[in-house]
Amino acid sequence: MPFLEIRNLERRYRNFTLSASFGIDEGEFLCVIGPSGSGKSTLLSLIAGLDKPDGGTITLDGKDITNERIQDRGIGMVFQDFTLFTSMNTERNIQFGMKEKKASERKKLSDALLSLVGLEGYGKRSVTSLSGGEAQRVQLARALAAEPRILLLDEPLSALDAPLRKSIRSSIRAIHDTLGTTMIYVTHDREEAFAISDSILIMHDGATVAMGTAEELYRHPKDLFTAFFTGEGTSLPAHLVYENMTGSIFFRPEDAVISEEPINPDMYTMHLILNDAQIISCEFTGSGYLLGLEYQGYPLLSMSATKPRRKTVTVMILRESVLNLE
Ligand code: ADP
Ligand code: MG
Repeated sequence: MPFLEIRNLERRYRNFTLSASFGIDEGEFLCVIGPSGSGKSTLLSLIAGLDKPDGGTITLDGKDITNERIQDRGIGMVFQDFTLFTSMNTERNIQFGMKEKKASERKKLSDALLSLVGLEGYGKRSVTSLSGGEAQRVQLARALAAEPRILLLDEPLSALDAPLRKSIRSSIRAIHDTLGTTMIYVTHDREEAFAISDSILIMHDGATVAMGTAEELYRHPKDLFTAFFTGEGTSLPAHLVYENMTGSIFFRPEDAVISEEPINPDMYTMHLILNDAQIISCEFTGSGYLLGLEYQGYPLLSMSATKPRRKTVTVMILRESVLNLE
């Protein structure tokens, strides 16, 4: 049985139903991604016990905690908004959630946590004097001070600018690796999820639709939503290229190369060959060119190492890279 198991968990609002099932192992770093309104925060609130489900179960370490009180769950949370107590200095904020401990131990532990989050010597600082990034680090330290069995992070960095987000996300991952705390990290940023997760859970319209490593979800998505949510790509009606196939075919831009010369299909049996594609746009990406094409009225993306000179080209995709999805 997984360390945390969510089974048929439901929460119904007027125009929205959450319905979630998944499990994670102890020590895992799970990222949850999905469009705004897909139910990510609702899911975390239910796990934390801030909200009550209408059905289903939450099992932690073999024990059903679905109806357990918040304070008995041993689950920590870090939110996007800064929720520090402005009447307390930084170390008092961190010590706030600690379990029963002598004053000297509390001090030692809060100092250790401050250095863990990269804020050594900040203990006496007023929290109102902290920058946004520092405040999020203190929030993280405070949540960790309670020694949670699971730490839930709900878009903790989305109020910060990009360079700061990158640096703090790496420290969060490093802290995870040091402490081994099981973490569930919600983000709407797929690149962030790719960078720091062990595995990724995708949500869509209240449902948990796919779960796997970044590589699995990117390379072998099971449906079109997951395919497009994990990266760019092209979907074409399958019957356009395979007579008896239903649904869509899907491939990534980097798996589609172009030829400006005519291709003899007998020489390229490993490839799906699409003739007479028109180049509509050409963007330099640094490592090459991302081409926007039109094939039989459908948009198609391809990569090219060199800048094409012709407008009409042939697109070649390795057959093993072409997925058939619904
Ligand atoms: P996300 O975090 O993925 O953006 P949320 O979990 O916040 O999504 O919200 C999912 C849906 O549930 C939204 O349509 C939202 O309006 C609705 N919702 C969330 N909380 C409540 C509530 N307390 N009452 C009614 N509807 C809610
Ligand atoms: Mg949210």
